[in-house]
Amino acid sequence: MRSIDHWINGTLVPSTSGRTGPVFNPATGSQQATVGLASVAEVDAAVASAKEAFGFWRSTSLSKRSDIMFKFRQLVDENRAKIADLISIEHGKVPSDAAGELARGLENIEFACGIPHLLKGGFSEQVSGGVDVYSIRQPLGVVAGITPFNFPAMVPMWMFANAIACGNTFILKPSEKDPSVSMFLAELLAKAGLPAGVFNIVHGDKVAVDRILDHPDISAVSFVGSTPIARYIYTTGTANGKRVQALGGAKNHMIVLPDADIDMAADAAVSAAYGSAGERCMAISVVVAVGGAADPLVDAIAARLPKLKVGPGTDPDAEMGPLITEEHRDKVASYLAAAPAEGAKVVIDGRQADLPSDGYFLGVSLIDQVKPGMKCYDDEIFGPVLSVVRVDSYEEAVNLINEHQYGNGTAIFTRDGGAARQFQFDINVGMVGINVPIPVPVAYYSFGGWKASLFGDANMYGPAGIDFYTRTKTVTSRWPDPATSSVDLGFPRTR
Ligand code: NAD
Repeated sequence: MRSIDHWINGTLVPSTSGRTGPVFNPATGSQQATVGLASVAEVDAAVASAKEAFGFWRSTSLSKRSDIMFKFRQLVDENRAKIADLISIEHGKVPSDAAGELARGLENIEFACGIPHLLKGGFSEQVSGGVDVYSIRQPLGVVAGITPFNFPAMVPMWMFANAIACGNTFILKPSEKDPSVSMFLAELLAKAGLPAGVFNIVHGDKVAVDRILDHPDISAVSFVGSTPIARYIYTTGTANGKRVQALGGAKNHMIVLPDADIDMAADAAVSAAYGSAGERCMAISVVVAVGGAADPLVDAIAARLPKLKVGPGTDPDAEMGPLITEEHRDKVASYLAAAPAEGAKVVIDGRQADLPSDGYFLGVSLIDQVKPGMKCYDDEIFGPVLSVVRVDSYEEAVNLINEHQYGNGTAIFTRDGGAARQFQFDINVGMVGINVPIPVPVAYYSFGGWKASLFGDANMYGPAGIDFYTRTKTVTSRWPDPATSSVDLGFPRTR
């Protein structure tokens, strides 16, 4: 059985903790590797290596840092197919979804290539006689990223590209469910010329995470994952004096107004609800059908679902893969079992689909007549289940979304520009799509939800990422009185 090691100080380091976790192929259900689960001592070794590297990395020139990011970008681009396969075999998403993930991750590396521009400070000349004030941005030191299973390449790239480019050194604690792709990225970073110790990986579970949260030499923690863990990371990390950004779960609603193009809305709902088997924090999980939109929309979505091919990533025709684990697949299915008793109508039941016999597959499902208070509405299901809530008015739709505990993404489908503009004003959600179902911001904006989808106030990547991974130093300077200077400039002095 292949074992997946840590990556510390530029080299593979086998785990010595004596604890391991299984890594499955979700499309077959077979275990394909074990991953070492780090002890406190193993995390400490990674932090020591990162701390030593920080000494020289922070003084490495901006042009050298950006040159390494450009080379890394090139290597990732050349290895797209291999990376997509690595994602697919451990996560289960089909290669086209994996390629999409990688494309969105790559944007963040491209953004970080512009680090010389991004780190420019401010300068105010002559704030007082002979006095200038300027601000510079400096890295924080050793920073850590803790990432979820569902985007094993993209979410780490959201973090480490900017963190490293800013001059920090980085410890990644990837999801123990699909750890291999991050190991390949570490190899590519080394090939791109990144010095040993600047980027480290420790695999692990709560033991490793807790050590990251209380290690005195870690200055900041970036987290993406479920809401209960995000809350824990934020409260523990900040209590330990660290800078923390913690992104949590989601329940994304898509409003369809009666004037919307129903075919366009149905196509969008299907790709946004079932892509990556619904295991996306920006997946649409509730369609809010306003007035007369409901019947034609439910019919249009239901008509599309039997055509969606579910299968392993090795099947070139498959459009949707399995769920991450057997336990998660069964949990998602339990929402379908519970819905009728709560008064909802299961229009298409993924448990009855014709599916591969091995692996953690569940077919696509559609539940109509869903209401707040039902489990399938209140909870983040994180699977290929789309709920439909029917409401009478735009106002009712907006109130519904604003009252939900999550506020990651949302979308409105309409032909009315005024209604769309009003929606972006009214809605208490961090990322809004107008006729766009998954409004993940491009890398030169920043990503972040509201309410239980984000703890603290730091969004991820883009300009917010540069802010998060640097601290400003403001310098007020006065030079000696020129009257005492022996140099005759031939001009009147400014004081
Ligand atoms: P998770 O919270 O179970 O795990 C995330 C990370 O936390 C992993 O590295 C895991 O090892 C670690 N972890 C798990 N339990 C822990 C514990 N008790 N103590 C300390 N660390 C622990 O999330 P997941 O299942 O890997 O990912 C899916 C979740 O992530 C969903 O809720 C999804 O919405 C969310 N997510 C959010 C975003 C976003 O941008 N807001 C993006 C992707 C995923």
